[in-house]
Amino acid sequence: MDCLFCAIVAGDIGSKRVYEDEACFAFLDINPWQVGHTLVIPRRHVVDALADDEVLVELGPSVARVGRLLKERLGADAVNIVSNAGAASGQEVFHAHVHVLPRWADNPGVA
Ligand code: 5GP
Ligand code: ZN
Repeated sequence: MDCLFCAIVAGDIGSKRVYEDEACFAFLDINPWQVGHTLVIPRRHVVDALADDEVLVELGPSVARVGRLLKERLGADAVNIVSNAGAASGQEVFHAHVHVLPRWADNPGVA
């Protein structure tokens, strides 16, 4: 299967790892909307977060850990958690992923 994020999970394409566990892998977005913009993806290939009942269940604990980790490491005040599911939502990579974006109260628009 020709999937960019499967290749990242396999290590065939390099990425800057933020976190990983049995179910999920998290890495910095190559074109960040914010400093620390991280993508959390399931290791298994599914096209988007709505593909079955389990995807968001698998991703949930990892998304929470990554959000806390970004707050601790980067001193962020808050995070945005976003998942585009379907082309019309803006999804461009069709392997499920959650964007975790650290935010700062004094500079919410930093890129
Ligand atoms: P989407 O628009 O599908 O919700 O988000 C896909 C994200 O994947 C984009 O923010 C894009 O910058 C990121 N991305 C695309 N190709 C790569 C890549 O090769 N490496 C990394 N780290 N991120 C990528
Ligand atoms: Zn994949």
